[in-house]
Amino acid sequence: MDLNKIKLGYSPFSDSHRANMGYFFRVDGGDMKKPTGFVAVCQCGKIIGAMDFRGTDRVDAGKILGEWLYHGCTVEPRFGGQWQETLSICECEAEAEK
Ligand SMILES: [Zn+2]
Repeated sequence: MDLNKIKLGYSPFSDSHRANMGYFFRVDGGDMKKPTGFVAVCQCGKIIGAMDFRGTDRVDAGKILGEWLYHGCTVEPRFGGQWQETLSICECEAEAEK
């Protein structure tokens, strides 16, 4: 999960500036792959969250990602126009309640 890369996708710099500042960009050129969504994989291995990054406000998306990470989830990017995941119920909390 590379938050920098996502931020770079929304770089305020024009293309000419981008070329000059290429040092700061880890992925150059027009073939930068931007995730179209993210899924949250819990410590128990279940996918407990999914988000369509394109339809989500950037600030909200950041909050969601932050909550996932805080929860201890692994955030995995998804690429392409179509993807789907089956969400499962986290088994960690069930374990904790026993
Ligand atoms: Zn879990």
